[in-house]
Amino acid sequence: KAKDLGRNNYQRYSEQMQARFKWRMSTEVLLRHAIEADELVLHYQPQIDLRSGRIVGAEALIRWESPSLGRISPAQFIPLAEETGLIVPIGRWVIERACRDAASWMRSTEGAHCVVAINLSARQFNEEALMAGITSALSENQLAAHHVEFEITESMVMQDPVSASGILKKLRDMGCKVALDDFGTGYSSLAYLRTFPLDCLKIDRSLVTDVAIVCAVVQMAQAFGFKTLAEGVEDEAVLAVLQDVGCDIVQGYYYARPMPLEEFKSYLRSHSEKFPASVN
Ligand code: C2E
Ligand code: MG
Ligand code: MG
Ligand code: MG
Repeated sequence: KAKDLGRNNYQRYSEQMQARFKWRMSTEVLLRHAIEADELVLHYQPQIDLRSGRIVGAEALIRWESPSLGRISPAQFIPLAEETGLIVPIGRWVIERACRDAASWMRSTEGAHCVVAINLSARQFNEEALMAGITSALSENQLAAHHVEFEITESMVMQDPVSASGILKKLRDMGCKVALDDFGTGYSSLAYLRTFPLDCLKIDRSLVTDVAIVCAVVQMAQAFGFKTLAEGVEDEAVLAVLQDVGCDIVQGYYYARPMPLEEFKSYLRSHSEKFPASVN
């Protein structure tokens, strides 16, 4: 009987594996064509400076609209793209498109100071051609490097802190900004962290509702000379706490969800006045 059970379990396991394998195979094939088929788009989510009340940046977040699979979340297809190496052409496309889009909003007065934040994946980050790709995206769009910020995650830099530090330095030497994404979800060594050439710590969404943690992280970041950005701000109560503890920048559904470029441009226009100091 135990044997039967084992066999059943195995069968179920093997069916699941096959289903997953099939999903991966078909998704990989479709993803391979997604760039040329124009199925990838970037949405932009505003970042608001709490002291000035102004929009100081926007994070580029990729969207895949597949005619056959429907809308697929980046949390699903980015890991697949990483495993298959497709992240390299996709990542290159993201940098090019984000720079082009940022150059287009930067030509308006209300968007002139709005930095674009671009997520980098581990593979891309360690790619030899990264710097060349960035340089050409900047020059093609006549975009100043200080209008671009790169987000890398804590786990990416901690895999090899020494070489990561070197890449971060190169990015900053070019004039770009660097932010550590999802901070608080990995296991950063504080000793390394303080030596990293960073502009900003992005406090992970899972931590922003914890007053004590947020307060501690902001204080530590200030001591290290980094700005702080809180992600996933969804309500006014959280915003009040962030303002109290001296967090610099916020991003979240409370202000806006990620939106298509044209929508973001009109958002910039309609919010060219500063946000009211809504709390305190
Ligand atoms: P991330 O870089 O940490 O991006 C923040 C995620 O939180 C986004 O999810 C955003 O839509 C979501 N978010 C923002 N505000 C709120 C909020 O108030 N509440 C909640 N519940 N969520 C909020 P999204 O767009 O699904 O992206 C997921 C992840 O996929 C990103 O996490 C990033 O790691 C990755 N990703 C997205 N675009 C790219 C890209 O162009 N390249 C790479 N390499 N990764 C990307
Ligand atoms: Mg990010
Ligand atoms: Mg994040
Ligand atoms: Mg995240």
